[in-house]
Amino acid sequence: MDNYVEKVKSVIFGHAVADALGVPVEFASRGELDNAPVTDMEGFGTYPYPEGCWSDDTSMALAALDSLASNKIDYEDIMIKFGAWYFNDQYTPTGEMFDAGNTCVSAIQNYFGRHMPALNCGLSDERSNGNGSLMRIHPFVLFAFAKQMPFEQTVELVHSASALTHAHERSKIGCGIYACILMHLLNKADKSVVRKALQQAEAYYADHSEIKHYSNLFRQDFDKTERSQIKSDGYVVDTLEAAIWCLLTTDNYKDCVLKAVNLGDDTDTVAAVAGGLAGALYGYNEIPKGWLLVLKRREYIGRLCERAVFAWQ
Ligand SMILES: [Mg+2]
Repeated sequence: MDNYVEKVKSVIFGHAVADALGVPVEFASRGELDNAPVTDMEGFGTYPYPEGCWSDDTSMALAALDSLASNKIDYEDIMIKFGAWYFNDQYTPTGEMFDAGNTCVSAIQNYFGRHMPALNCGLSDERSNGNGSLMRIHPFVLFAFAKQMPFEQTVELVHSASALTHAHERSKIGCGIYACILMHLLNKADKSVVRKALQQAEAYYADHSEIKHYSNLFRQDFDKTERSQIKSDGYVVDTLEAAIWCLLTTDNYKDCVLKAVNLGDDTDTVAAVAGGLAGALYGYNEIPKGWLLVLKRREYIGRLCERAVFAWQ
């Protein structure tokens, strides 16, 4: 299980470090970043926070991981912990909540204001297909992998976990495709499995009308896509495409996440989604030490990973 602690840390820190790299330039355009690319951990910029501060992506992921560390899936408890982040600034780098997405906020208000059951809180209209569930789905995959859950059951789990905030089928499928790739990478840390995972996801969702929105990903030559064709906004489909493209077109953690940040727009989330996968592929030791050292609450995050894996065994 020591080995699994290392894997969990590679994904959780791979995601958090990349989130923090993107925060200072969130909403910067690609053109702006082409003129002044991010090459290292920075502070300030878009938000008044020093270097190493992660955003809602990591906060909501840590809230989910903290709940899963009780060794059960309790969707009510996960919503309560999302509320602890949103209302009470828990799971934040500095003790101040910032950068909450509209769909997540609406779902949290459905839970606390309208007292809806957790699994009914997510928004299901077509416009509620931002990347707000994709950015926090990895703890559920880590839990499922630890439990050696079958593929179908893992996909059902991430669909439900997505639906806490993002209940439209397109968002759920995005999380399912991501989960499939992460499961393959946890099983074998080799870039060749990404293609296999995409084939498995394509076959699994073959009869689903929403899968057509992800068709770019399933092209054999997706990794040859021109950078100008890769969008990096907050739409779940674009974020997933951009993250996988960065993973497939680089050969180390650092280059992958910097490439993601420098695509611009939703820099923190595109980088975080790519970073979790790159962490699984290259391992914890490939995350630059200097970036880990300045990451806020690094020791807390490490202990949470250890506590979760200890509970799951
Ligand atoms: Mg964010």
